[in-house]
Amino acid sequence: MASGLKRLSRFFAPLRKFKPNAETSSSELLTNYGYLRQSSSGVYNMLPLGNLVQSRIESIIRNRLDEVDCAETSLCTLASTKIWKASGRLQTGTEFFMLEDGKYLLAPTNEEEVTSMVAELSSYKQVPLRLYQISRKYRNEKRPRGGLLRGREFTMKDLYSFDETMNDAMTTYRDIQGAYNRIFEDIGIDFEVAEADSGSIGGSLSHEYHYESDAGEDLVVKCTSSSCDYTANTERAVSTAADTSVKIGLADAAVKFYALDETLPSKSEKSLTVYAAIFPAGRSINPHLLKGHSAVQGSELAEISADSVSKMSATILPLIDTRVEYELSKNREQLTTIITSLIEPDNSNHSKYSVVEAVQAPIVEVQTGETCPSCHSAPLKIVPAIEVGHTFYLGTKYSEPLNARITTQSTGKMEPLYMGCYGIGVSRLISAIAEKTRDSDGLAWPKSVTPFDAVIVANSEADALKIHQHLSTHNIRAVWDDRSTQFGVLLANARATGFPLAIIAGRSYTQTGQLEIQLRNKPAKSHPPTLVSLDDLG
Ligand code: ATP
Ligand code: MG
Ligand code: MG
Ligand code: MG
Repeated sequence: MASGLKRLSRFFAPLRKFKPNAETSSSELLTNYGYLRQSSSGVYNMLPLGNLVQSRIESIIRNRLDEVDCAETSLCTLASTKIWKASGRLQTGTEFFMLEDGKYLLAPTNEEEVTSMVAELSSYKQVPLRLYQISRKYRNEKRPRGGLLRGREFTMKDLYSFDETMNDAMTTYRDIQGAYNRIFEDIGIDFEVAEADSGSIGGSLSHEYHYESDAGEDLVVKCTSSSCDYTANTERAVSTAADTSVKIGLADAAVKFYALDETLPSKSEKSLTVYAAIFPAGRSINPHLLKGHSAVQGSELAEISADSVSKMSATILPLIDTRVEYELSKNREQLTTIITSLIEPDNSNHSKYSVVEAVQAPIVEVQTGETCPSCHSAPLKIVPAIEVGHTFYLGTKYSEPLNARITTQSTGKMEPLYMGCYGIGVSRLISAIAEKTRDSDGLAWPKSVTPFDAVIVANSEADALKIHQHLSTHNIRAVWDDRSTQFGVLLANARATGFPLAIIAGRSYTQTGQLEIQLRNKPAKSHPPTLVSLDDLG
């Protein structure tokens, strides 16, 4: 240990016999290559390798936020529900984990907490303030999925800003947006900044940061012209469309059903996703859009026709709200019949499917011919995406009810602070980056967040140590994979675990002192192999 040689065997990254392919999900890759372990649905333990990736993401965030005068804080997780009552969110929220008969909740976000904390401010001289933390958040998600993409316990960076005037708050908003752009550029994965509707959190200015990905549960509306950068989330696109009479429409209501076909032998074949959507009269839906949005292979679309809406509304409509899961358990039988008839309208076999779960689904319809509300020339397209960050201008939504006021310079009176809040899905980013960069050989980390820059494949500790020490002097963070003695296994794992560089001390090293190097972003077998001497590295 004293030698400083880092060994993978010390990182609790147990080797599993596993061969990835193009279809392997990022959560399977992260599990099988020793980054994380599931504890229960939507709850994960981060293994040391996963933790290293997370720390690197956190450092990028800290560096860029420090540059725009943000100070790191650490807020409580056990949040008193009193202040959540005062803001009104306790009454409307649905994703809380409650404790002690409603006395506490496990913080899902912290606008209430931080606003009541800064309520002791009294003068404009004490602002602006930009406080952030990186901590675990808790949301009782109906359907956790995709490993770290949607967890019930997850790590989020949350930042809150307090300014004297709305103008100052806008300056802050732009500063933080600048920092966000630099954070996502540092990570190095292409991202989209979408205009967003601020929805239930209030306020009037909001943006979402997205990675385009089939694994995402969001949809982003984009202009197809390369000279126009119009990008919006669906809610925003719909509200913009209302102003400009562009025909983009959300379905009036949509439900996504997860059904099991009991007649099929294998578990994976049994699962089927069915979408049922009720549209305003005269609207039709593009099935490709729905399929693009689906997370399950082999999805089928079932559209409820206008004349069956009245028949079904009595049973389906009560389900289309946030209580859908609870309602479902009461109405399982009814729903099974409905869905069966949706899937096979002419089939009398009504006992084939059993409903596992139904969730509210945002379904967007875009009609062809319609044009971008920004450039007014090119058509729009919709792409599935992963939301990795979100910025909101909040105004005085929380400072008024929680009494966070200061005397202002202009009026001399006590006025509420102008606020903003800004989130980044830190743990979600691990899965999202894995998803964006993986290939059929496994994980492939970008240099920005990789747990180690290089993995050393060598059968002798002395060789590994020599290489490791040389790399350390050149600030290359390397690790020796000592979990196996089989060269073939080590080579496959070096690639699949996703380190950007593998340094191989094989036969040529013993014979000629030449190391082979393999770059993760180049094909596995290069002919002839790239050979270097130790001094060439660094
Ligand atoms: P989503 O639409 O995916 O449910 P959200 O809009 O509810 O996310 P925000 O309240 O905006 O989430 O939280 C800020 C960020 O935290 C999000 O942009 C996302 O990256 C991350 N996040 C939110 N919920 C989860 C979750 N359940 N698991 C992992 N990350 C999450
Ligand atoms: Mg959410
Ligand atoms: Mg969202
Ligand atoms: Mg959001």
